[in-house]
Amino acid sequence: MVIVYEHVAVSTLLAMISDQQNLEPALSMNTRVILNTIINFMWAPSHMGIQGNDAADKAAKDAPKMAVPPLPEQFVFFTDLRRKTLFYSLKLWQDRWSTCKENKLYKIHPELSKPFPLLAASRKDESVLARLHTGHTYTTHVHLLKREKAPWCHACDNSFSVSHFLTECADLYDLRVKYFDTSSLKHIFTKVSSAALFGFLKESLTRRVSI
Ligand SMILES: [Zn+2]
Repeated sequence: MVIVYEHVAVSTLLAMISDQQNLEPALSMNTRVILNTIINFMWAPSHMGIQGNDAADKAAKDAPKMAVPPLPEQFVFFTDLRRKTLFYSLKLWQDRWSTCKENKLYKIHPELSKPFPLLAASRKDESVLARLHTGHTYTTHVHLLKREKAPWCHACDNSFSVSHFLTECADLYDLRVKYFDTSSLKHIFTKVSSAALFGFLKESLTRRVSI
């Protein structure tokens, strides 16, 4: 379907039709076939002569000729404003986050402006890291869904959590020494390479301990 607004446009279109000599036969024919494509011509009124449309066209044409007025002293570019807004919102978030020092996530990521340095090799590994960061894993939290008792580490006679698994469990002491030798969650999540952390996780499975 081709919609034409003016005779000029119709002429331009018809000029593309090699065997077309006259406008009227083309319009009366209504449908032409060019290169196996059917074209239907339909006339629609032009926007010319409509007062508001003409004024808008003129204003658009005149705009490039207008002198650019000097910027007011208080003028702030959008890009600067966006940057300041981001910093301001981050400061508000950080101020609030800094009051949550007992939150387990705060202990491993106190400064929000700093990204987690651990980068996983795959989407699946990222998911594992995210679960370790939040402390929410299948092993530690499935009891809530099953309405069972919370997991318990019988070797240590202690409740079983991600923190216990990574930093305290006596059953995994030698693996901890082998892969990262620290009892600080923050250190594990910021200084230890993801390769070492995943090495620890894989070898812990051989001890029938999984997170
Ligand atoms: Zn333990």
